[in-house]
Amino acid sequence: MKDVKYTTEMLPVYIMINPRNAGRKRRTGARSDRERILLKRQKECEPESKRQTISVISKFVVTDRSGILHDRDCPYVRRIRYCRQKDYIAPDETVRFCKYCQRRAILRNGVTDFKNYDVYAEYFAQNQVSTFLLELFFVKRGATATLLTDGINICCGEDKWKLRWGHNKNRSILEHNNYVRSADGTRYFVKGYHEQHIKKDTVTCAIRYIMAYNYEAYHGMKCAK
Ligand SMILES: [Zn+2]
Repeated sequence: MKDVKYTTEMLPVYIMINPRNAGRKRRTGARSDRERILLKRQKECEPESKRQTISVISKFVVTDRSGILHDRDCPYVRRIRYCRQKDYIAPDETVRFCKYCQRRAILRNGVTDFKNYDVYAEYFAQNQVSTFLLELFFVKRGATATLLTDGINICCGEDKWKLRWGHNKNRSILEHNNYVRSADGTRYFVKGYHEQHIKKDTVTCAIRYIMAYNYEAYHGMKCAK
């Protein structure tokens, strides 16, 4: 029998396939073994504290390429490699919210007591407050909310408000902090709240009212009448 000398080109292809991966298609864009080892080494060299700022302390996770912002607890965050996460958002930068965790991220941004998240989420859902309005309120206007035993305390600008639960959960009474008007038209705040009689007693209307409220314009209009 004649000896056949195999050259690399002649070797059957299946010999070169790892039997564990046989039949499996290689993922497009998958890293080679060499790249994976290098990346692992690089990660081991990174200081531990730098890694923690994103996963533990900060509220959100932002991916560097797509600019999508996730709530810290979003299940999709687990799929984002650490090297693709950004540690901060520049002031002029626009980020897009992840559709899955948008409401949660917005509320995390706005409430001072995130441990009560479930109460807030249920309240805003029951009162059919849109995610769009919550974003305007808590992100663009920078309002903050704190849970009280009888409602929600809201700070927006220099004014403080209270959304007091009504007798049933579908009705909320909007209250505004008390203030005294001085002779020159300026005001100073005093303790307590007064009911702000708005046309509709829905939470959506209350939020829109708070956002539109402007002390000078409000009293200017009253004087003009
Ligand atoms: Zn998300």
